[in-house]
Amino acid sequence: MDIKEKINELNEELINLRRDFHKHPELGFEEVRTAKKVADYLRDCGLEVTENVAKTGVVGLLKGEKAGKTLMLRADMDALPIQEQNDVEYKSENDGVMHACAHDGHTAMLLVAAKILSEYKSELNGNIKFVFQPNEETAGARKMIEEGVLENPKVDGAFGLHLWTPIESGKIAISHGAVMGGLYEFEVKIKGQGGHTSAPHTAIDPILVASNVVQSVQSIQTREIDPLKPTLIMFGQINGGTATNVIPEEVDLRGTIRYLYRDDPDGEERPKERFERIIKNVCDSHRAEYEIDYIVESPPVYNHKDMVELAYESAQEVLDDKSKIVDYTNLAGEDFGDFSDEVPSTFFFIGTGNKEKGSDFAHHHPRFNIDEDTLANGVEMHVRSALNYLNK
Ligand SMILES: [Zn+2]
Ligand SMILES: [Zn+2]
Repeated sequence: MDIKEKINELNEELINLRRDFHKHPELGFEEVRTAKKVADYLRDCGLEVTENVAKTGVVGLLKGEKAGKTLMLRADMDALPIQEQNDVEYKSENDGVMHACAHDGHTAMLLVAAKILSEYKSELNGNIKFVFQPNEETAGARKMIEEGVLENPKVDGAFGLHLWTPIESGKIAISHGAVMGGLYEFEVKIKGQGGHTSAPHTAIDPILVASNVVQSVQSIQTREIDPLKPTLIMFGQINGGTATNVIPEEVDLRGTIRYLYRDDPDGEERPKERFERIIKNVCDSHRAEYEIDYIVESPPVYNHKDMVELAYESAQEVLDDKSKIVDYTNLAGEDFGDFSDEVPSTFFFIGTGNKEKGSDFAHHHPRFNIDEDTLANGVEMHVRSALNYLNK
């Protein structure tokens, strides 16, 4: 089979699938319509299909006729709570919900890859698990792992990808090691004691404590962790107080810790423990109390050396020009990190940024769009990576 020719034949179907998902976006763990369409399509390709994995997840299993390893290919299906501002004929029909992170493209690409790979059934040494994951934006991968997605048959390796507008159309980015940030989304409550601003000695001022916390934790990135290990502590929200002359009882701080290296298993280097220690000590020194909660915790996406080499080899087959395979890392979170913590994996980026086609907006922007001509690159990467992994 000429893979490029085959993808070309299926290009219209690929774009139609993507547009259909785009028109009907669904939020995390609510991907009911999307999941049904995915399951039906996979069944038509002759795959064994399991539905309702982690609520709305779908898994299609392609069993090769010869024994071998099991490879997982993963796509995410969820959309975002954003009102679409694009004026396109496939514009979102769900008010306030939009595919602004290209997961519509991911789902379409993996479906078409499944169709092509199913034709290789008799030649495959091993199995391919096509995993359609719900709720990537708030860490749905962990739930799929808990529900056994990496077992029966046991997954030996995994590939994942992201269409990425910051990278130019026609390029593919593959890097070693940590390629996307580990993430803690936190909520810290600083509890003081309310009072009159004319008599602060009779109160405990949580505003002063909170401002010390905001500044003191910055020393983690500048004075505690190796500066060659990127660590970013940002506060996105501070709330507290009701009047100019009242010392409030409480101040709430919300934000993110992101880091681009593997957590030290003995815990010493972990930014989370350092963050908690500094908050505890700042609060203690001011007689304030505190509470820390985490909304999301996900490890960095970590690329395994052998899997990177396989992906690189595949990209060379996909692109005619080696200079279009580029290095790239970023600090955004991606819950594929949970998979890469469990099995040797590689996660790469399909460039889809093209100013002339209007696909140069940032991910999660209300005018976000992709360059549909790059979907074929994603399909081909899936197909070639799978064939190279199982049959080489
Ligand atoms: Zn996103
Ligand atoms: Zn995404």
